Amino acid sequence: MNVVVCLKQVPGTTEVKIDPQTNTLIRQGINNIINPFDTYALEEGVRVRERCGGKVTVVSMGPPQTEEALREAISVGADEVILLSDRAFAGADTLATSYTLARAIDRLEQYDLIICGRQTIDGDTGQVGPELAEMLGIPFVAYVSQIEELANGYMRVQRMVEEGHEVIETSLPAVITVVKEINVPRLPSLRGLAKSKSAVIPIWTAQELGVDENMVGLSGSATRVIKIFFPERVHRGEILQGELENQAESLINKLRNAKII
Ligand SMILES: Cc1cc2nc3c(=O)[nH]c(=O)nc-3n(C[C@H](O)[C@H](O)[C@H](O)COP(=O)(O)OP(=O)(O)OC[C@H]3O[C@@H](n4cnc5c(N)ncnc54)[C@H](O)[C@@H]3O)c2cc1C
Repeated sequence: MNVVVCLKQVPGTTEVKIDPQTNTLIRQGINNIINPFDTYALEEGVRVRERCGGKVTVVSMGPPQTEEALREAISVGADEVILLSDRAFAGADTLATSYTLARAIDRLEQYDLIICGRQTIDGDTGQVGPELAEMLGIPFVAYVSQIEELANGYMRVQRMVEEGHEVIETSLPAVITVVKEINVPRLPSLRGLAKSKSAVIPIWTAQELGVDENMVGLSGSATRVIKIFFPERVHRGEILQGELENQAESLINKLRNAKII
C-alpha cells in the first residue's frame, strides 16, 4: 500500500503580519510548525503502512525552510519526502497549489491512498484535498475519522458529519482529508531522529516537474488578494443614570428601539 501524505508548514503563531505591498504573509522571523491536522494525516499514513506494508511518501510545497518540516516527518515514520520548491510556485492560491501537488503525485511510481489534513491553520480553506482529487480524477472523502478497512483496491471509512458518522465505501486510489479524532500522533523515535538528521531532502522544481509555468504560483492562481485587514473593533458603552426603576425602563426602551426585544 503506497500512501502519499500532503503536509504544509505553517506559522506557529496567530501573531502574523501581512506585507501591505504584496498582501502576503511576512514569514521572516516566524517560528514554523507542521500544520496540526497534517500530523494526524502523517500518523494515519504510517499506521496504514504498519498494517498493510508499502511506504509513506510525504509531499510538501513551500519555501526552502519547509525542509525542517520534512525532516520532522521522517523522524515520525515517513519513508520518503519530496519538497516542491521554486520561485515559480510562490503566491499560489489553492488551485495552483493543488495543480502543483497533483503533477508531483503523478510522477510517483504508484499510489493507493493520498491523505491530507482537513484544513490548514493559515490559509484555512480546506480546498486543497478535494481539488487534488478532482485534478487526479479519483474519489474523495472529507473529514475521515476512521479507516475501517483497506485492501485490494477497496476502502471503507467513517467520516464525521454534524449529527454523527457516515460510513463510505470507495475504490482506491482515493484522496481523504482527516480530522484530529482519527488518531494520536506519535512522538519521534531515536532511530527516526537519527535518520531525519542525515536524510537528503530531494527538491523538485517547476522544470523537474515539467509543469506549465502559467499554471503554478501567482500566474496560475485564479484568485487575487486585493486587500487584507483586521476589522476595526468598536466598543461603545453607556452607563445608565438615575433611579433603578428609571434605568430599567430606559434599558427596555433602548433594547426595543434597537429591535433586540
Ligand atoms: C484568498 C487567499 C489568497 C491567498 N494568497 C496567497 C498569496 O498571495 N501568496 C501565498 O503564498 N499564499 C496565498 N494564499 C495561501 C495559499 O492559497 C495556501 O497556502 C495554499 O493554497 C493552501 O491552501 P490552504 O492553506 O487553505 O490549505 P487547505 O486547503 O486548508 O489545506 C488542506 C490540506 O491540504 C494539504 N496542503 C495544503 N497546502 C499544501 C502545501 N503547500 N503542500 C502540501 N500540502 C498542502 C495539507 O494536507 C492540508 O492539511 C492565499 C490564500 C487565500 C485563502
